[in-house]
Amino acid sequence: MDLNTDIQYLKGVGEKRARLLHKLGVQTVGDLLHFYPRAYEDWSRVVSIADAPIGEVCCVRAIVDRKPVGARIRQGLTVFKTDVTDGGSIMQITIFNNKYLAEKLEAGGEYLFFGRVSGNLWKKEMNTPLCEKAEGNTRIRPIYRQTEGMTSRSIERLVSTALERFVPACPETLPQWIRDKYCLCSIENSLRDVHFPPDMDYADHARRRLMFEELLTLTLGMRLMRTRSRAHSGYICDRDETADFIRLLPFRLTGAQSRAVQAIVADMAHPSPMNRLLQGDVGSGKTAVAAAAVYNAVRNGMQCALMAPTEILTMQHYDTMCAFFAQCGVRVALLTGSTRAAAKRKIYADLQAGEIDLLVGTHALLTPDVTFRRLGFVITDEQHRFGVEQRAALGEKGKGPHILVMSATPIPRTLALMIYGDLDVSVLDELPPGRKPVKTYAVTGDKRERALGYVRAHLDKGLQGYIVCPLVEEGDTPMAAAEEYAEMLRQGAFRDYRVGLLHGRMRPREKEEVMRAFAAGEVQLLVSTTVIEVGVDVPNAVIMVIENAERFGLSQLHQLRGRIGRGQVASTCILISDAQNDEAQKRLHIMTQTNDGFKIADADLQMRGPGDFFGARQHGLPEMKIADMLEQTQLVHEAGACAERLLSVDPELSAAENRALRSAVEKLFQGVGSAGMN
Ligand code: ADP
Ligand code: MG
Repeated sequence: MDLNTDIQYLKGVGEKRARLLHKLGVQTVGDLLHFYPRAYEDWSRVVSIADAPIGEVCCVRAIVDRKPVGARIRQGLTVFKTDVTDGGSIMQITIFNNKYLAEKLEAGGEYLFFGRVSGNLWKKEMNTPLCEKAEGNTRIRPIYRQTEGMTSRSIERLVSTALERFVPACPETLPQWIRDKYCLCSIENSLRDVHFPPDMDYADHARRRLMFEELLTLTLGMRLMRTRSRAHSGYICDRDETADFIRLLPFRLTGAQSRAVQAIVADMAHPSPMNRLLQGDVGSGKTAVAAAAVYNAVRNGMQCALMAPTEILTMQHYDTMCAFFAQCGVRVALLTGSTRAAAKRKIYADLQAGEIDLLVGTHALLTPDVTFRRLGFVITDEQHRFGVEQRAALGEKGKGPHILVMSATPIPRTLALMIYGDLDVSVLDELPPGRKPVKTYAVTGDKRERALGYVRAHLDKGLQGYIVCPLVEEGDTPMAAAEEYAEMLRQGAFRDYRVGLLHGRMRPREKEEVMRAFAAGEVQLLVSTTVIEVGVDVPNAVIMVIENAERFGLSQLHQLRGRIGRGQVASTCILISDAQNDEAQKRLHIMTQTNDGFKIADADLQMRGPGDFFGARQHGLPEMKIADMLEQTQLVHEAGACAERLLSVDPELSAAENRALRSAVEKLFQGVGSAGMN
């Protein structure tokens, strides 16, 4: 038996409990050891009844006077009462409806009672406290995430068994010099103390070591992946040709755009490959910057690839690029999952022959058939929606190509470094001129008729609008819901208008047709699921209604709203929601107060907490068990420095003392490949 032993075979588990543990993500004994408590209960600080402050949670050691007696108060409610004493004072214990607990208490037995103290100075009370035999239980107790049928207490017992049996066999992952340099305790101590700390200092110390290890493993993984795609030297653009392109644009670049273009040109003039993140809110004009960079690369003799996470976004990019390059002879092609076989074959051949300058596509670009003649520049849009392996794979189709990553998701720098490696950042913090901020209102469902009337008034003026239709409960298909909703509008409020429908289950062809019709003004009102979040740029669309707005995250609402406010006419966004809870209300309120993507991301982060925001789903990173990258910036730094030093001595982590760390890296990145894809 070792750490990889199936959890089912741990003493006390068995088949049924194994299934429950699986729900908590625990498959092996090793997983259980690394299933850290989410909090602790301090049963080590025992106070006398006299000293226990009313209103506070305390741990009292006392002897039970007599077995609790039950009194049936009403149907289904039995109350058990007894007195306990610690020699000095008496306290009353009340237990509601818990026969099991009441019967556990023996007259004359000594117990620990853990709970909030109530009553008055003459007689204190505790209602339904936690109780344990006093003997051996005055300690800090771990609290675990539980699931139905598996309480924190039962997990605690299993962890204890696993610790006794397996911890001595746990391989030390961190070489001695690292532990010395960063003051980290051994793996053995950290595992014991994180679960059963003698006092809270031990718990802190243990957590620090475990967080460090987790961050180090993550950083190493990211760096190893990067080294693979950066080993070769890049292509060099020795001429800056961007002026020719910029002159042809129908608008003037903003200051932020110009700065970004200059930075990119400078990067590409270097023999080492560019690795740059281009960050900017929706509508800030990232695509124009990317196009200028593509133009420059092509004029310097390279081929380019642009990869986006969805077909719709890909097609939009393709159209935009074609429009940008119409007058300057850059040859653009489109490759997605739905490209016909014959067309695909032609694209593969043309790529090889060097007759395509820019290939725009989805992850279909990653298939082995796609081979370039001289791929020198790779752009990924919304890269966090690709898996880690997929990001690296596109770069590997060239010999150390320059890399530009575009993102509308504001990411704090520490985290960006984690995700993208050692990268440079350009921020487009200035919107193109003439943009009017979108006015946003949050209303309840009884205002729906008025909202729809307002939409109609806009359509009557020749403008266009979106309705993001209600999300459905699991089980129903989103397609059906969107269809029904559109049908309802077509029969009712929008009988006399041209209403289009867009949802994720439609075939790419159909979607494209709907979008084309909407962009051409043939469709006045587009009813849609969240698929419009990425894609369609229609400046004439100036009004958006979002149904069930409470069910969207802040960042998602912001992305959706980014579809309007792209033209010269002032735009309006109406959020409809009947949600009463504070959190939803607060979110909607924030939306009405600001249009600033970074502010919204901040608020989102605060409300959701980093675990959620930066979880594996968001950024294609492995999920962190314990380390919180935003809180632990110092530790993130130290782990980064440590990773650097390790890799400079042992780039493949093949030395004996580093091998355990290498397998930890491999384990952490297992299965991350497709996370975040949709
Ligand atoms: P992003 O990709 O950052 O969301 P886009 O590149 O799609 O933004 O640009 C949004 C819209 O603004 C496009 O219609 C684009 O043509 C236009 N645009 C970009 N830069 C400028 C500019 N400097 N002045 C005016 N319009 C611009
Ligand atoms: Mg864009």
